[in-house]
Amino acid sequence: MAHVIEVPPETTLPVEGEAGVFPVRRIWCVGRNYADHAREMGHDPDREPPFFFSKPATAAVPGGTLPFPVQTRDLHHEVEMVVALGKGGRDIPVEQALDHVYGYAIGLDMTRRDIQAEAKKLGRPWELSKGFDQSCPISPIVPAARIGHPARGKIEITVNGKVQQTGDLNQMIWSVPEAIAYLSRYVELLPGDLLMTGTPAGVSAVKPGDLLHGVCEGVGEIKVQYAG
Ligand code: MN
Repeated sequence: MAHVIEVPPETTLPVEGEAGVFPVRRIWCVGRNYADHAREMGHDPDREPPFFFSKPATAAVPGGTLPFPVQTRDLHHEVEMVVALGKGGRDIPVEQALDHVYGYAIGLDMTRRDIQAEAKKLGRPWELSKGFDQSCPISPIVPAARIGHPARGKIEITVNGKVQQTGDLNQMIWSVPEAIAYLSRYVELLPGDLLMTGTPAGVSAVKPGDLLHGVCEGVGEIKVQYAG
């Protein structure tokens, strides 16, 4: 069928060891999924139900040099493991959730914290703080067929060589299968959906020129340098 305007480009991510690319459909993010980060944001981490927000698929970009985001004086990094779904479903049981995973990556849930703080105060939505252009740098996806399903391992980010966030995947309040199962009760998940799994403590402000280097043990790494 003909389109009445130019068709927007598909957002894709490279897959390690494959010629084909992964098409990104949606980006879901779990909020406050590491207790120490929940505490640093002023919340009690005792297993409240998980909550989710989303970024547009177009926010996903590979690492490399990125322009410094507009409209913020408090840009924060949140390093997270990313789950890439290869199979969709509704009301997915926890025990079957990992069957829906195609692979994993490491990503940065970049956040305009000043805009988010204002939104929280006024009870407004988070989109402009979380879903802005290029707000989700993501590494190449590694198929689960090759690495399995990481449930433990170091996740860390350095800024200009200094460790800022460090944690272990085993510190997640809601595990990957639990988060998939929970989310699938509210929306139908489909192939191409990504899930950002939350960030450990140590979020901090980034300046133009800063070099961010995230590492997720057994999954991969991502480097982002903001233009000075
Ligand atoms: Mn996050």
